[in-house]
Amino acid sequence: MKYAPIANYINGQFVPASTSQTMNVVSPLDGTLLSTVPMSASTDLDAAVAAAKAAFPIWSKTTIKERVQVFFKYKYLLEQHLKELALLCSEENGKTYSESVAEIEKCIELTEFATSLPQLVTGEVLEVSRGVECRTEHVPLGVVASIVPFNFPAMVPNWTLPNAIALGNCMIMKPSEKVPLCCGKIAELLKEAGLPDGVFNIVHGDVAIVNAICDHPGIEAVSFVGSTKVAKIVYQRATQNLKRCLALGGAKNHLIVLPDAKTDMTAQNIIASMSGCAGQRCMAASAMVAVGNVDHIVEKICDEARKVVAGQNLGAVINHESKTRIEQYITEAEQQGAKILVDGRKVVVTGKEAGSYVGPTVIDYVTPDMAIAKEEIFGPVISIIRTNTLDEAITIENANPYGNAASVFTQNGGMARYVIDRASAGMIGVNVGVPVPREPFSFGGWNESKFGVGDITGKSSIEFWTKLKKSTTKWNPEAGVNWMS
Ligand code: NAD
Repeated sequence: MKYAPIANYINGQFVPASTSQTMNVVSPLDGTLLSTVPMSASTDLDAAVAAAKAAFPIWSKTTIKERVQVFFKYKYLLEQHLKELALLCSEENGKTYSESVAEIEKCIELTEFATSLPQLVTGEVLEVSRGVECRTEHVPLGVVASIVPFNFPAMVPNWTLPNAIALGNCMIMKPSEKVPLCCGKIAELLKEAGLPDGVFNIVHGDVAIVNAICDHPGIEAVSFVGSTKVAKIVYQRATQNLKRCLALGGAKNHLIVLPDAKTDMTAQNIIASMSGCAGQRCMAASAMVAVGNVDHIVEKICDEARKVVAGQNLGAVINHESKTRIEQYITEAEQQGAKILVDGRKVVVTGKEAGSYVGPTVIDYVTPDMAIAKEEIFGPVISIIRTNTLDEAITIENANPYGNAASVFTQNGGMARYVIDRASAGMIGVNVGVPVPREPFSFGGWNESKFGVGDITGKSSIEFWTKLKKSTTKWNPEAGVNWMS
């Protein structure tokens, strides 16, 4: 085993879980056993909540200007440890080293946003009647939890932790049991940056610990990022227990391509979107809706796909189970009449035979009723659905139950606006394959891609991680008498 067994992180210390039950952490790159992760018990969560609760009175009363000093230092430490974190991220998740570097760079950008929060949470004050002032303040919630998925071991934890903590909360992080290593390093860096013990805690585990988080009376708010199936469970359970909850789910992102789209740029964007992080991004292109004759673009897409090579510029999918599931979708579509233009099944990387790789796959003449057109694949696969009109394309996009992202490729501004107005998704791209809003814009989808109000990053996250206190004050008894006096 390459690394020591993973421990929970409670009150500034790495501590073993109280159970002996563990799961193996295996690198998708080559099958190396990296570590073991504990399946914690609810008593471990109790200890983490107690530590967070004990830290809250002092941390929440520290001024925000002081709190963000920790994140200036944390940002610097992320920069210093970029290579180490990127290697860890690649090892446990299977993405390429350069994709992992980009992931850590995104963590730095997210932290940079958190350092700007003092400029954004100034509250409001107004003299509402003579001598009477109303004022609002953003007040932290208390102990909050963040449950995260496997596909971004460092970035998704950093969607929530810098903002929630800078805004004065104390946090319990529940990493994905498939990729638990990066969070441990993040904890070390936060401590080195000066974060007081108990403000950030990690409890590892799977279903049982997620349920315990949703049920715990000491936790005020739960953020979740993962599949739609689990997002629904978490949202229902947490809100049933009267907690604030924001649960981001899965996706099926449609890219509409019009005949006037720039051929090379469109093909490059579509292949980068579908194959980046081996297609395991909630913003990945999954279905390309081709309007009219775009054969010249499809041809170029195939050329671009052939430049993407597993084990070189294409990472692994998370495990063998996932590889098998993705390959089954491709085979089923083929059996139902779709045409495989580039086939990524049965890919083996020499020297990394135990890795779980799927090559880039382009499938044409997919019909909207096929499973590959309807379900989230989470692999480097693009399904091309042919339509005659833009309205037909929009109908297909609108019919999918998810709503994370949608893009249109065209040189016509009017057509682009037509799609922006009609696509049923929270994040829209025009000639952009992965339309992730950069900070300070907030990240969040619609429909079955998100349950709860607001978004998870950017300015919108301020509303989620704080509650508003409204005070009405009068210090001037000489002011004129009126209805408020
Ligand atoms: P997942 O839903 O399987 O797991 C997410 C978290 O939930 C993990 O921490 C896991 O331990 C826990 N979990 C798993 N099953 C559970 C259950 N039955 N009950 C309670 N908790 C459970 O997701 P994943 O496979 O880790 O991640 C991939 C999914 O995440 C994809 O669907 C992807 O689209 C989605 N995702 C969405 C976004 C977004 O912004 N919308 C971002 C990243 C990933």
